[in-house]
Amino acid sequence: MAVLVTGGAGYIGSHAARVLQRAGQKVLIYDNLSTGYEFLTQGFELLRGDIGDRTRLMPALKRVQAVMHFAAHCYVGESVQNPRKYFSNNVESPLALLNACVDAGISRFVFSSTCAVYGVPAKVPITEDTPRLPVNPYGVSKMFFERALEAYNQAYGLRYASLRYFNAAGADESGETGECHDPESHLIPLALAAAAGAGPPLQIFGTDYPTPDGTCIRDYVHVNDLAEAHVKALQHLDGGGDCLAANLGTGDGYSVMEVVAMVEKITGKKVPRQIVGRRPGDPPALVADPALAHERLQWNARRSLSDIVSTAWQWWQRKPANLSCQPSPVSNA
Ligand code: UDP
Repeated sequence: MAVLVTGGAGYIGSHAARVLQRAGQKVLIYDNLSTGYEFLTQGFELLRGDIGDRTRLMPALKRVQAVMHFAAHCYVGESVQNPRKYFSNNVESPLALLNACVDAGISRFVFSSTCAVYGVPAKVPITEDTPRLPVNPYGVSKMFFERALEAYNQAYGLRYASLRYFNAAGADESGETGECHDPESHLIPLALAAAAGAGPPLQIFGTDYPTPDGTCIRDYVHVNDLAEAHVKALQHLDGGGDCLAANLGTGDGYSVMEVVAMVEKITGKKVPRQIVGRRPGDPPALVADPALAHERLQWNARRSLSDIVSTAWQWWQRKPANLSCQPSPVSNA
């Protein structure tokens, strides 16, 4: 099968492209390189274009049977300050992609969704029947597209899997690709940069949450485990399986302090840190119930927090020096 991977020059898309290729699928990467990196597409055919550009998309779609859609913006804080950018890039352009898929006869679509569609859940672990009540424009934009997929399935028969990621982290074991957002806002790369003395002290956003050590708890899931779930979702749709929305997480939560301790253990270095106020919009705990993905896709996250931090550290040391991955200016409460 040939698969179009939108956003294949980005963090999760570049991992999915590799895992798909290793599974024997033909991969075409479609990316406008606005935030992705061309060097991450080495070994793949790269088609440069916007997902909203139907003229460029149609010939690409004629060459594939399925689409994996990763191209999106993903900063919660930025989405609050600039919702226009998020609704344009995460809703308007993807709808053009979806329409082009229907017109090109694509019948399988795997969508990169997020646990942000749940907002602040009433209970954890979070199951898929938790109401979708996103609390920021990023989460709303992803929920909108999930709903569009549901409607397009009913009306046009387009078959989909919406995969709701918890905290994607870690890097490909080959060292070829890894996380590098610019600016960087994620805990593990910032903690690694601080440990290496290549970034400012890590800011710990709040120690007064109702959790055992007072810091937020998240479900960190290895990016290659996520990528493997995409391959399984595609196989599921290919085998005639029902459309689905599934959580992708490990089911285990770690606090910010536990992650910092793991970074210190793996790197053998202290993480210089500074306790600051809460980051607006951070719920105390987000942990997946991954049972549905296990039942329907026979998927389990296989890699541990130690694997996540080890592979991220390997990538951090090998990545090109010009990728600075500096922290984003965030406002704290
Ligand atoms: N976090 C932190 N300092 C940082 C970045 C993140 O304390 O510099 C915390 C953040 O408050 C959250 C957790 O680490 O509880 C994971 O944040 P990240 O931005 O990596 O992912 P998110 O949960 O926002 O998707």
